[in-house]
Amino acid sequence: MDVLDCIIIGGGPAGLSASLVLGRARREIVLFDDKTNRNRVTDEARGFLTRDRTNPQEFREMGLQELDNYPSVSYVNATVTEIIKDTDNERFTVKASNKQEYVTEKIILATGIQEVFFIPSIRNYYGKSLFSCPYCDGWEQRDKPLVVIAEKEDHVMHLTKLIYNWSKDLVVLTNGLKLSKEAVSQLERRKIKIIEERIKTLIGNDGYLEKIEFESGETVKRSYGFVAPTYYRPNKLVEMLGCEIHENGKVITDGVGRTSEKNVYIAGETETARPSSLMISAARGNKAAVSVNVDLTEERF
Ligand SMILES: Cc1cc2nc3c(=O)[nH]c(=O)nc-3n(C[C@H](O)[C@H](O)[C@H](O)COP(=O)(O)OP(=O)(O)OC[C@H]3O[C@@H](n4cnc5c(N)ncnc54)[C@H](O)[C@@H]3O)c2cc1C
Repeated sequence: MDVLDCIIIGGGPAGLSASLVLGRARREIVLFDDKTNRNRVTDEARGFLTRDRTNPQEFREMGLQELDNYPSVSYVNATVTEIIKDTDNERFTVKASNKQEYVTEKIILATGIQEVFFIPSIRNYYGKSLFSCPYCDGWEQRDKPLVVIAEKEDHVMHLTKLIYNWSKDLVVLTNGLKLSKEAVSQLERRKIKIIEERIKTLIGNDGYLEKIEFESGETVKRSYGFVAPTYYRPNKLVEMLGCEIHENGKVITDGVGRTSEKNVYIAGETETARPSSLMISAARGNKAAVSVNVDLTEERF
């Protein structure tokens, strides 16, 4: 079996950008992706310089087309399920859902993150009516009546203060959390309505929100707004490979993508969830790929 220079797992902006750098550096690589990129639920990706307002699928297609120019790059549409480290030669065997096995010297993990919503029905409206990143979606929602849904006080305050920049017409829903007196007075000073009652469900059509129903049966009408999800890595590849993780959830790196494990690199949101940005993820992919190339160069020269 041929030994690859690097396998890149994840074809979001981080993995695509890493693949471009390594393809241009003439490295034999395989890029895996299973099309579960986090922004797949939205129609437009915004704020990526020269690509503002591009459909996420189109963005990926453009990235893949650019990789076609480099013959040492292969793309496989499959899920990586297991990585086994051979301790004798420090190579990795990568197993994927296409039932193939690949052997590589180096690995870049760029598999992103996914959201957990404290009210499951938020998922039905996420990306069309409800959003988590004001830098991505605030402009389109400017000056509209908006709802802010969060259930930890620091999330409520941070998100509401940010969103207030785009719209002053806000209703804050805490789903049962009682805010401190100080928080209430800060919000009321800005004429922001607060509803602390538990939410029963969200009601709407075809991904578009119409109203939110509380356990009492009362409803509040809002069509758009922002939520504060929590995040998780969608697989155990970081743990499988033994990479050190900080107690705050961030994978420990040298700042340019090298993890604590030799030959394992990481890029994009799977390293750290914040800031949430296509451009920053692409930049992290670029950095990790340069680290891979520098290490291969030093090891082989
Ligand atoms: C609703 C919404 C709207 C957003 N809008 C914007 C915006 O307008 N502008 C902006 O800058 N940012 C936006 N973002 C944030 C942006 O999507 C992320 O910052 C960015 O996608 C992170 O890039 P990434 O490469 O780290 O991960 P992702 O883009 O999530 O890519 C990870 C890739 O890894 C693949 N993968 C995962 N596990 C495996 C596996 N085991 N095997 C193979 N492949 C795997 C997935 O298929 C996926 O394609 C938005 C996010 C959401 C949720």
